[in-house]
Amino acid sequence: MYKTKILKVKQKLIKENKIKKIKDTEAIKTAAEYILNNQLVAFPTETVYGLGANALESEAVNKIFVAKGRPADNPLIVHISNKRQLFKIVKQPISESAHKLIDTFWPGPLTLIFNKRERIPGLTTADLSTVAVRMPSHPVALALIGATELALAAPSANSSGFPSPTQAVHVYNDLNGKIPLIIDGGICNIGVESTVIEIKENKIDILRPGAVTKEMISEVLKDCSTINLVSESEENKPKSPGMKYKHYAPNTPLWIFNKAKLKSLLKDSKINNKNTAIVATTQTAVHLKNKDIKAELIDMGSKDNLAKIAYSLFSILRDLDLREFNLVLIEEVPSKGIGEAIMNRLKKAAIKII
Ligand code: AMP
Ligand code: MG
Repeated sequence: MYKTKILKVKQKLIKENKIKKIKDTEAIKTAAEYILNNQLVAFPTETVYGLGANALESEAVNKIFVAKGRPADNPLIVHISNKRQLFKIVKQPISESAHKLIDTFWPGPLTLIFNKRERIPGLTTADLSTVAVRMPSHPVALALIGATELALAAPSANSSGFPSPTQAVHVYNDLNGKIPLIIDGGICNIGVESTVIEIKENKIDILRPGAVTKEMISEVLKDCSTINLVSESEENKPKSPGMKYKHYAPNTPLWIFNKAKLKSLLKDSKINNKNTAIVATTQTAVHLKNKDIKAELIDMGSKDNLAKIAYSLFSILRDLDLREFNLVLIEEVPSKGIGEAIMNRLKKAAIKII
């Protein structure tokens, strides 16, 4: 058991992107020392909070799997803070498409799969010959990676299977006592995990949708013949090992509803009562306010601003869990842009789609 410490980085430094100054804070100096001693540190990224360890040390990486209760066959994403680090961990050559995407989207929420060098231990990649790499844009993440001069393996800093953490308190609620240190950098801007892609000759597989959307990728790779969003049902064997596990799920049973089906759902008093929460888009919430609704109504934001919905999604699910409803109904959103990522997470978290 650890006595979990939380060290804050000032919002002003983060807002002003003062990476050098952040590197000099006590929080980052302490965190870097922990990492160099093969300990774990939870830290903010622009997507969600990550649970970091030296990606090259099996002893450190093993602690991630233990703290999260993560299955050992679910590989980790390795985080770097400059391009030179990439060539130390992946095999050359790197395709021209990969270079184009890196130059456009790094630092940022795009993870690419490469052939790995021997020095990356099998534990980090679940014994795959490939490694997933990303350069986050959050100044605290960049400062921490820079201060350690190491590549950091860092999955989301939640208990395996639960919604990802977008605030330090979410990390604390899941991992208190299991990790020694959390760096608090406020709320993550994006709120859903990075896009994960694999490049194959003239074809791109999106293994996990995120804030870098299919449209954004095809804009950069105009001559790419196909950009395919890999769905689990298409595959007998998941391409990305993490795809086969239940993910992002709150304790409270979650159903996804389509607005057209809501009227009949609300006629059922076993559903429409004070023990149910309805999480709806602003458009639907406005419409419901005038109706006789017994369930608690939560507005998750306008469907015209899907980025805002992504930002608060995991936070809403976590808050509702603390209030112990019997059922949470959440409205589906359009699967376009970042809506693709929202629906991907919700479909894995839900036990029923209506
Ligand atoms: P998390 O770290 O929890 O955000 O999850 C990382 C995701 O990246 C997992 O679901 C993995 O399936 C995927 N991933 C990591 N490494 C690889 C790899 N070498 N090949 C394919 N997918 C990977
Ligand atoms: Mg995760």
